[in-house]
Amino acid sequence: MRRPIVAGNWKMNGTRSEAATLISGIVAGVNSVNTAEIVVCPPFTLISVVADALAGSGIGYGAQNLNVHDVGAFTGEVSGPMLRDLGCTYVIVGHSERRALYGESDDLVADKFRAAQQHGLVPILCVGETLDQREKHQTEKVIIRQLDAVVDTVGIEGFNKAVIAYEPIWAIGTGMTATPEQAQEVHRFIREKLSGLDRNIATNLRLQYGGSVKGANARGLLDQPDIDGGLIGGASLQADEFLNICRAA
Ligand code: PEP
Repeated sequence: MRRPIVAGNWKMNGTRSEAATLISGIVAGVNSVNTAEIVVCPPFTLISVVADALAGSGIGYGAQNLNVHDVGAFTGEVSGPMLRDLGCTYVIVGHSERRALYGESDDLVADKFRAAQQHGLVPILCVGETLDQREKHQTEKVIIRQLDAVVDTVGIEGFNKAVIAYEPIWAIGTGMTATPEQAQEVHRFIREKLSGLDRNIATNLRLQYGGSVKGANARGLLDQPDIDGGLIGGASLQADEFLNICRAA
């Protein structure tokens, strides 16, 4: 039985006081969420604020990125040991914004996945295709390439302690959500592909959908058999809306 997991990706948003208000709103409503595991991923600067506010709440937290190195001359970067020191349990790797805006290759994403696990962090691996790739019927090919890079680096066993977020790039921040059927089709494909390597790992692996999820469209997506939660961008910045999604999971 896979427990649904809903994670908020706050991206580069929030001052400390805004974060305190948002997180206290989420904590205040957590008792209304029965099933889902809830995680928030604030920017690095807000992790401590969030960690303090979440103590004893049962809500987890993580980061949006990490460097593959542990320490050293890597100006502006943050490492796995630093995130563990802050009490993070999750870290997003390979978000499409990092792949597209910061040139992160499949191999670098795979190295980040490995670095996260080496430090006891659970990677939330983002995969997904552009609109152009979808229209050219390349969705499966792109996802295979993104998954294979990670399997080649850590083996299928790496997915024992990981989450995959399928995020069609054309749906991120655009208001153009994939239909539940479109999302389920890709989720089923991911599970079947990994099942070919290890059926047990694939069966237990949690697969999130991400891309313009809101309270209003969450249930149809999260009701799909291979969708085990969501990675939420814009809607995770409003406590009520984020809680509505968590309740739907
Ligand atoms: C995301 O950035 O991971 C995301 C899914 O964003 P949004 O929900 O805003 O589309």
